Formats: sequence, C-alpha cells, structure tokens
Amino acid sequence: MKKGAETKKTVTYTKSVSSVAERHGSSSLSLWERCRATARRRGYKGAIAKQHPHRFRSISSYELLRNCEDHVLQSHPSTLSTADAVPLPQRGRLRCCCLRSRSKPLVGIVYLLFLLIVMVGCFIAPAPASAAWQPTVSVCIATAETTAAIAVKSGTAVLKTEEKAKPTRTLRPGMTVTVSTAGSQLTADGKPMRTRTLLVTSADEREPLVLTVNGKAYRGALRTDLDGLAMNVINIVRTEDYLQGVVPQEMPSAWPRAAVEAQAVAARTFALQGRGRHSADGYDLCATTHCQSYGGIAAEDPGSTTAIAATYGEVLTYKGQLISAVFHTDSGGSTDSSRAIWGTDIAYLQPAKELQTKTQPWKRSWNTTAFVATLSHKKNIGTLKKIQLTPLTIGKSAKDRSASGRVMAATFLGTKGTLTLSGNELRSLFHLPSTLFDLKLDGDVVICTGYGAGHGLGLSQWGAKAFAEAGKDYKAILAHYYKGTTLKELYRP
Ligand SMILES: [Zn+2]
Repeated sequence: MKKGAETKKTVTYTKSVSSVAERHGSSSLSLWERCRATARRRGYKGAIAKQHPHRFRSISSYELLRNCEDHVLQSHPSTLSTADAVPLPQRGRLRCCCLRSRSKPLVGIVYLLFLLIVMVGCFIAPAPASAAWQPTVSVCIATAETTAAIAVKSGTAVLKTEEKAKPTRTLRPGMTVTVSTAGSQLTADGKPMRTRTLLVTSADEREPLVLTVNGKAYRGALRTDLDGLAMNVINIVRTEDYLQGVVPQEMPSAWPRAAVEAQAVAARTFALQGRGRHSADGYDLCATTHCQSYGGIAAEDPGSTTAIAATYGEVLTYKGQLISAVFHTDSGGSTDSSRAIWGTDIAYLQPAKELQTKTQPWKRSWNTTAFVATLSHKKNIGTLKKIQLTPLTIGKSAKDRSASGRVMAATFLGTKGTLTLSGNELRSLFHLPSTLFDLKLDGDVVICTGYGAGHGLGLSQWGAKAFAEAGKDYKAILAHYYKGTTLKELYRP
C-alpha cells in the first residue's frame, strides 16, 4: 500500500476512535491505551489487524504514532473535544488526525459499528502494565556530525530506513552500526542506504532499549537525519525516561524531595508543552539550556528518578491546556509577571513572593570608561554623568521597576547624549545574573548590586527548596509559582 493511503486510513481510524470516545464519555487516552495493548497482545493478527493491517503496521511508524499522540496530548488535558484539538507542528506532510474531513455516512456507520465491537473487546481485556501509553519526545543530542557509532547496550534493535517499514538489519547487545554521511545520503557500515534518515529502534516496542552513540548511553531509539552535508543525531525517548536525564541536570538530586518533585512536574510539562519547539529542525527539543539540559543515562541519579516516579505522568494545565512551565535558578525574593519580563500576559505567570528575600546576592563594578564603552554598542553617550534608576526595594514597584522590583528601564546621561535601556537589555549587555539590581555611579566607578539568578518567571528553584524545607509539598510549591493552574495526571504507569 502506498504511504499516502496508509496515512489516510490510519487517520480515519484514529478519528473514529475519538468519535466513539466522545459518544461514550470516555477519554481517547484510555481507548488508545486499551486498543494498542490489545493489538499487541494479539500480535497484530487479531480481528482489527486482519481488517486494518495498515493501522497496525503504522503503529511502529514514528510519525504516524506521533499524530495520534499529539491528538491525545491536545485533547486529554481538557474534556475530549476534537474541535478544540490543535495539532502541534508536524514533521513532513502528515496532519493531526483530528483535522480529517468526514467519511461517507454509510461507510462511516458500518465502520463505527465495527469499531464499537472492537472497543468492547478492548475494554473487557485488561491492558498489561508494560503497554501503558506515554508520549515520546525527540531530542537532538548531536549536530553537525559526519559519523556516529551506534551500539546496542541492552535490548534488541533493528536498523530501518525512513522509506521502508521492513528492517534492514537486527542488532543485538554488543553490536555496533556506524552511520556516516556520504553526499546526499547516509551509509551504514560503509554501505549506501539511499536514504536521508536512518532509525535504530527497539525490535519489540514493549522492550526497553539502551543504545550508545559515540560511547554515550541513551534510553529509547536513535535517528540520524541528514542535514546539509552533516547529520543530526536524535534520541526518540519516552517522556519519563527523558526526564531521568533532565531533572538531575536542572536541580541537585540531594535537595528536599518536594522541591525535586516540583521540578520534575515543571520539566515534564515544559517538555510536553514544548514538543515541536524545534519542528523546523526536524525534532522536538534540543539538549541544551535553550530547551532543557539533557544528558541521557550518564546524568541520571536515583534521587531524581524517585521524584520523577512519584509524580509519574503529572502535568500542569491552565484552562485545559498544558502550561509553559518556565523556571529559573533563584528569584532573589519575588518572581515576576510575564508582562514585565516578556511583554506578554500569561495568566499563570504572576509575581510570587518567596520565604526569603535578598537571596543569592551578587556584585559587579566597572570603571566608567569601560562601562560607556560597553554602552556604546547601543549608543555613544560620551562621558557618563548620571544614572537615573529608582533604588531597589524587593517586592515594590516604581515607575522604572516591575512589581518584584526588577529593572524595567535605566537612563544614562552623558556628555554626548542620553540612553535608556531595559533591564533585559542591560542584563544581556553586561552578562548580569538577573534584572533585580541597583546601579550607582560612585566617582569614576559604576557599581551594580543585585540578587537572584535567571529571568524570574515561574518556579524559582532555590525558592522551591526553601518552601520544601519549610514543609510544603510539591503540589503547594507548584500552585504557589504557577497561579491558578491544575495538576493533572496525563498518563499512568
Ligand atoms: Zn532548544
């Protein structure tokens, strides 16, 4: 069957699953889980697979599976509504299953009846624990590579091209395949593969797989995408496995349990809400602080893993949608609003007071010549004569300060002109830890004293630590930093 037709039929099926779910007041998530589990148990040879082989062949196809995952991700946090479901950015030509136009009425009725029978069968049979659904994320772990040695550490893997469903090779523990670029195609152990994308994935979806790329271990599958004359190496990993390589990089595992649990929920929500953040590059997230630091298995720590497991599948939503769960190192005494920092209103990102103020104090100083030299990247004001900025009081706004006291604008008067810069501009120009600072001219020295580190939006990691030490649990910590949000279990173990 041609790929286009296969896609269309899979899309039809998923739409119908959603319709059945809607009519019966069930969530598409549980339907999806149960049907998938049933299909697996029957080895894809049962009644469904017989009549709809395309659908079950497609299950292992990364992009088609993503379509259905995106649909569930979008529709599950709120009440199930296909009309509200907005597709996340997609790779390639596929569209979200919820956007498909209706099929012919008679065909639809027969199809729906068939599906209802299938659904009943699915509900009767309990789903095995190993088949629990959870979204995957694709994380770029290496860019501009010309060669990558991919070895199987545990599990059985298969090597596949994007074009063919049938694997080209089976890889057992200890076996290695070296993927290299060769002009406009990829090679595997020197053999031309006539493809731009190679996938090393688990031979059996139920079995966990650990692969190494150039000696560094990752859970899940690896994909190599030709990008120009080089290639990107992308780790396709289940969300919970991904978090194991993220949370310890973002917060020390030895910190109080409630703080690490709050971090785990924030990181999970951030990742799932940001799925497709790098869709133009062909993956979801990068492995740097631009998205979240991800170090694979080498970064994992038992303390973080426990906190991740304790909050399994839990995400923050606002009005039924996943929130942008931004976080930072230390607010210095009060977080701020997205209006003040980004210039856009986000209802749940509002100032939140901390237990302690004037935390993480820092100081910088420059002689005026060096200071105006840096300012001259914006404008040459000559010799600095005066700095206009209201003195800082944490948690108090002023005409040039936000509700938390962060600098909104500071004005520099010089012999050749005047320059006004925002706090964010100053932070980036002078590489300051935060925008919560005082700036004074003292003789021929400019002294900057401030508090905290990071943008000051959402969860403050040091603030969360203080709340955890004071006895608050992770739910209370999250509710404090993300106003009016709801904690939801998106999927279960
Ligand atoms: Zn990124």
